[in-house]
Amino acid sequence: MSSQRKRIVIVGSGVAGSILAYGLRNIADAEVICLERASADDHSDAGTGLNVGPNAIKALRHFLPDLADLLVSSSLPWSNWRISLTDGRELMNLPLTQVADNDGIRIRWSQLYALLRQPVLDRVRFGVEVTAMRYARAGEAGPIVVETVDRQTGAEGRIDGVDLLVGGDGRYSRVRETFLGKPQPYFLGVCIFRLLIEQSRPDLVDDYEQWFNGPNRLLAFRVPGNGTYIAGSFPILPDQDVPLEARRAEVLRALYTPQDAVPSDQCAFLIDAICNNLSEIHWARLQEATPVFSDPGRRILLLGDAAHPMVPTLGQGATQAIEDACVAVSMLGTALGDGGHALGDALEAIEQRRRARVEFVVDFSRDATDTMLAGADPVAGSLAKTRPDFQAKLAKLYRDIPAA
Ligand SMILES: Cc1cc2nc3c(=O)[nH]c(=O)nc-3n(C[C@H](O)[C@H](O)[C@H](O)COP(=O)(O)OP(=O)(O)OC[C@H]3O[C@@H](n4cnc5c(N)ncnc54)[C@H](O)[C@@H]3O)c2cc1C
Repeated sequence: MSSQRKRIVIVGSGVAGSILAYGLRNIADAEVICLERASADDHSDAGTGLNVGPNAIKALRHFLPDLADLLVSSSLPWSNWRISLTDGRELMNLPLTQVADNDGIRIRWSQLYALLRQPVLDRVRFGVEVTAMRYARAGEAGPIVVETVDRQTGAEGRIDGVDLLVGGDGRYSRVRETFLGKPQPYFLGVCIFRLLIEQSRPDLVDDYEQWFNGPNRLLAFRVPGNGTYIAGSFPILPDQDVPLEARRAEVLRALYTPQDAVPSDQCAFLIDAICNNLSEIHWARLQEATPVFSDPGRRILLLGDAAHPMVPTLGQGATQAIEDACVAVSMLGTALGDGGHALGDALEAIEQRRRARVEFVVDFSRDATDTMLAGADPVAGSLAKTRPDFQAKLAKLYRDIPAA
């Protein structure tokens, strides 16, 4: 590769990778190649529904306003957070205006991916999986070499002369494992399952709500297109997989049914939906790992879950991937606009801008999981979330986006 035109390979056209590809698409001094193993219309890995925090929308408005408009106009607003018990007793009812400068959004995963990929369809090589990567060996054009396979044809490929490799390849990042070692996951001892039903009852479930029966928690909200996203959680042993026994309808129904009362109408609707759609459920365990952004030689940049897998308790995984991508667009864009000689410095600057913020969000997300752990008291824990110290942290989370 010439010293002028820098070759940048982004692995993964997920949340962070798509936004970075979008933000760098018009830089003449860069050849940006984004590789995505899924095909353009395959959303099978795209989960169900999600809420994106007000801070991501604020960051997008600041750095990439077109993208903010696109997401906001294609989603439902997330403007309130209510917590109750499954018998209907309300514990917290928080309009987000008290802690945020704007709403978040509620959206389907498949729709979020489609919206973020659409403007970069011609920049992404879909159906291409990165199978191996390395610092160039003697005789190879470096600094980085990437090997690929076309998932449809089986054809193998090689991209050399890569100046910067960006790992936007998610929680089980091969980029991170190859260059920075496999992260040690920390399991919190909570199972979380997710479900999207093609039915909505806006009279019962609309904006973002949570319901507790002991530490067992339901979460739900309506998403565009007459759908309802439901997530349930319950404690398990930290070193235990989700037990098969717990995936049965009777067991799940019992987990969320209050002992001496009937479930509220809202919870009865959700419990029935869960029990009637068992085969559609995605199961996972709450886990996180230590944040890492870059290699010592500053040739590798990790963004989103690849950099900082966190627990989803505050809905900050994709949200932080968006913040990361905004900062990366700004810093890499500037460095590339100046000829790309200071790409390594840009990586250092990105890490400086992101590390403290990300560590705060990872810690806050873990701390906010207190009410979901074995033995937790959800009444005391949820009431604590109405107090000024918790809400000041929420305001910091939702308002203190990275500056340009
Ligand atoms: C139960 C649960 C609920 C969640 N709820 C929310 C929520 O409500 N709000 C929120 O903000 N976040 C939520 N998250 C977190 C969110 O899913 C992630 O944080 C977010 O998707 C991370 O974005 P990313 O860009 O880092 O990676 P991803 O969006 O995961 O994208 C990674 C991309 O890389 C591709 N890829 C991977 N390996 C390769 C390879 N070798 N070659 C080519 N392509 C590759 C994948 O196909 C994928 O498209 C939740 C997570 C879980 C587990």
